[in-house]
Amino acid sequence: MKKYPKEDIYVGWEPEKCTHSANCVRGLPSVFKPKEKPWIKIDNASKEAIIAQVAKCPSGALSIHRD
Ligand code: SF4
Repeated sequence: MKKYPKEDIYVGWEPEKCTHSANCVRGLPSVFKPKEKPWIKIDNASKEAIIAQVAKCPSGALSIHRD
């Protein structure tokens, strides 16, 4: 799992689980930029906004973890 730290949490990313629904890209385009590297721009939104968006990932490819 790739980890993207933000304050006291990190976003986990497991690409093999992604079903390409694009919920993340549509819901929070400032953070989820699939054409860029790294594709998650963790500094571009609040922790709360990122947690809320990750909760809408239908596949579990994105997940929230507490350090
Ligand atoms: S919301 Fe989840 S399943 Fe959909 S594209 Fe983003 S990471 Fe993949």
